[in-house]
Amino acid sequence: MNKTHINNLTYEELEEYVTSLGLQRFRADQIFRAIHKNGIDNIDKILQIPKEDRKKLIEKSDIRKINILKTFKSKMDNTKKLLYLLDDNNIIEGVLMEYYHGNTLCISTQVGCRMGCSFCASTKNGLARNLDSSEIVTQVYAVEKHFDTIIKNIVLMGSGEPFDNYENVIKALKILNNEKGRNISMRNMTISTCGIADKIIEFANTQIPATLAISIHSFNDEIRGKIMPVNKKYNVQSLMDAIREYGAITNNRISFEYTVIPGENDRDEDVELIKKNLSGLNYIVNLIALNPINEYNKVNSKDAAMHFKNKLEKNNINVTLRRELGSDISASCGQLKIHYLEEGGLDEV
Ligand code: SF4
Repeated sequence: MNKTHINNLTYEELEEYVTSLGLQRFRADQIFRAIHKNGIDNIDKILQIPKEDRKKLIEKSDIRKINILKTFKSKMDNTKKLLYLLDDNNIIEGVLMEYYHGNTLCISTQVGCRMGCSFCASTKNGLARNLDSSEIVTQVYAVEKHFDTIIKNIVLMGSGEPFDNYENVIKALKILNNEKGRNISMRNMTISTCGIADKIIEFANTQIPATLAISIHSFNDEIRGKIMPVNKKYNVQSLMDAIREYGAITNNRISFEYTVIPGENDRDEDVELIKKNLSGLNYIVNLIALNPINEYNKVNSKDAAMHFKNKLEKNNINVTLRRELGSDISASCGQLKIHYLEEGGLDEV
């Protein structure tokens, strides 16, 4: 019999679940706080619950765990990269970044990814499976426990396309946000999508005030289509239509992630396209210097990114250049897992 993972349930679902087992409704409150506030990962250790009730719970349910397999610390800054081992032996990765405004954890939402972006190592072996909500939220708890730290911000920019695992991701955000549990503000959460237009509108209608980040990388269909196959289904026009609708519904500022590929998406005509497409929107363009993987063997584009930033600023475009963190430990999406699996391990720092 497959057990119900009770850490995969929202507060309201947990209330329904415990009453279905014959427990009193208020027990859900105690269980939710124990798991999501106090980090308890064993039903038998939730001592507020009478032994009889724990027995009933354990017969039908468990708390799904993930374990930290390895951690790597950058020698250049305080960035830490992690590999997590899931209960079916799949591996996902995460990045813990220290900023002046608090710790940010980059979270994975799928094992692998089927979106096929050419610059991303996570998609090399396609999609293995979706993470459930418990596996998404437990990444936060595992890191906080392992490093004895507090995560203030989460960014859904690890392996996987969050909107390709929409229901589990939305549920995970609600669990992490619940004030009876970990209580992370929705405003401190960022969802990054490669541009699944219909889900962007669905997300707008939830009125969840998390930041939406669009992996755009080019506003030219030909170039974007070459590096992001999703553009064949949702081209720039249809994506921007969805983003404008999102902006109109939520009034939230939208972040556009733009990896600078020297000579391909940093030309004068790209500046014009950015201007045209973002006009009238509440936005910020986040430039990223390319961090090469074997299949996309370009030189590091730090200088090119800085040059492009200057060009955009001269054109009054709101732009930042993302600070590179942990580049010595393969901190970009999917790289660490690939090195670990292909090379039989990396030096742990
Ligand atoms: S960048 Fe994101 S959406 Fe694209 S392949 Fe990588 S994980 Fe998937």
